[in-house]
Amino acid sequence: MDVDIVVIGMGPGGEEVAGSLAEAGLEVVAIEHRLVGGECPYWGCIPSKTMVRAADALAEGRRIPDLAGRAVIEPGWAPVAGRIREMTNDWDDKVAVDRFTGKGGTLVRGKGRITGPGEVTAGDEVFHARKGVVIATGTDPMVPPIDGLHGTPYWTSREAIETTRVPESLIILGGGAIGCELAQVFARFGSRVTVVEAAPRLLAVEEPEASDLVRETFEHEGIEVRTGVKAERVRYDDGFTVNDDLRAEQLLVAIGRRTNVRGLGLAAVGLDEGARFVEVDDRLRAADGVWAVGDVTGKGAFTHVAIYQARIAVRDILGQEGPRAEYRALPHVTFTDPEVGSVGLTEQQACDQGLDVRVHHTDLANSTRGWIHRAEGLIKLIESDGRLVGGTAAGPMGGELLGALTVAIHGDVPVERLRHMMYAFPTFHRAIEDALL
Ligand SMILES: Cc1cc2nc3c(=O)[nH]c(=O)nc-3n(C[C@H](O)[C@H](O)[C@H](O)COP(=O)(O)OP(=O)(O)OC[C@H]3O[C@@H](n4cnc5c(N)ncnc54)[C@H](O)[C@@H]3O)c2cc1C
Repeated sequence: MDVDIVVIGMGPGGEEVAGSLAEAGLEVVAIEHRLVGGECPYWGCIPSKTMVRAADALAEGRRIPDLAGRAVIEPGWAPVAGRIREMTNDWDDKVAVDRFTGKGGTLVRGKGRITGPGEVTAGDEVFHARKGVVIATGTDPMVPPIDGLHGTPYWTSREAIETTRVPESLIILGGGAIGCELAQVFARFGSRVTVVEAAPRLLAVEEPEASDLVRETFEHEGIEVRTGVKAERVRYDDGFTVNDDLRAEQLLVAIGRRTNVRGLGLAAVGLDEGARFVEVDDRLRAADGVWAVGDVTGKGAFTHVAIYQARIAVRDILGQEGPRAEYRALPHVTFTDPEVGSVGLTEQQACDQGLDVRVHHTDLANSTRGWIHRAEGLIKLIESDGRLVGGTAAGPMGGELLGALTVAIHGDVPVERLRHMMYAFPTFHRAIEDALL
């Protein structure tokens, strides 16, 4: 079958490309072997943040004795499991499929494989793309070859999202964003949680001050944190044992994500089959007539990156000029409490790039709003050459504070301007001024 474009993978990136091109009148075939929408709406951002919201409500209730009287908090998982089933339509993608086909696109169920320049095969159907092929195959949970793990009923983030009950105890392998968010969720719902992280600290990609803050909060909430510990062995009987000394009813493996490039046929278009990511340029071109967007590009495994890239790829495919992809002001948020939002470079990354760095820092607890709120948190800003190149906001709504820092970096706002503007009193974002002064 001859078409204009074939999109492989219909996560947020693929869906944006395929839908927009179909709307623009191109003949689009999209191939998806699981659910249209991908990880984000069914097993990723949206259900996990629904869990976080519920866990935060419990934590807020537990703060009542300190602030407002008496409260009896009895956690119950049923509303959480119910909302997740509602929002995922019980893991049914009919709404998303209808949205795409309503724009004129054609959906093919199955695994797509590039079998030649402009040629994609799914099952026994072969598609020839006149304009090109878009790779948007995303990632799957990575499961390491730990002795004894294979064949046990361990969870990845997918089973954790689907669970209808809270395990009495839980070991989480991996103290990155996903591991930390889920650790706090299950702990706040009553699970005895241990986080095992091989790196020396939690959230190893964040500023060390933010990692320390999250660790302190976790320990305060009764979460056991074991950093610098590698899981070497797993045993399963009526529960899980890790490294002979840690035991829990359930084990969650959250050590990272693996890009879906294996078996995709990259060599057929001259790309490296063994590479971890599909290399792209600033128009998301990977090869002649091949574009790639989303997690598979390795530029940042976030839904907003996938959609940002998708819009640029769409313009390029339609032959329209427009801004090219840049990642200087890439924001991301870990939705723990305190929430950790960061954008651009950390202090270490800026130093590693040889930049002449000035660091600004403030403790949110000392700001007026922080004191009113009884909040723990911090703002750390990295300045180079009179401009911000990075920022971290950890605390209540750290991800929302991040908006101001992202605009400052994206818009190249001079630090002098940021120092002499007005910040509404008494907001959390006013602490940006404290940091700069
Ligand atoms: C627990 C969790 C929480 C997260 N929280 C956040 C968050 O708060 N904020 C945020 O920005 N990001 C978050 N993410 C990351 C976010 O989900 C991903 O960055 C996003 O889904 C990537 O989109 P994508 O289009 O690149 O790929 P994916 O969403 O991975 O979709 C790829 C699709 O391609 C399909 N596919 C793969 N290979 C083939 C093939 N050969 N043929 C046909 N189909 C194929 C897959 O089935 C899948 O549907 C989270 C992820 C997880 C797991």
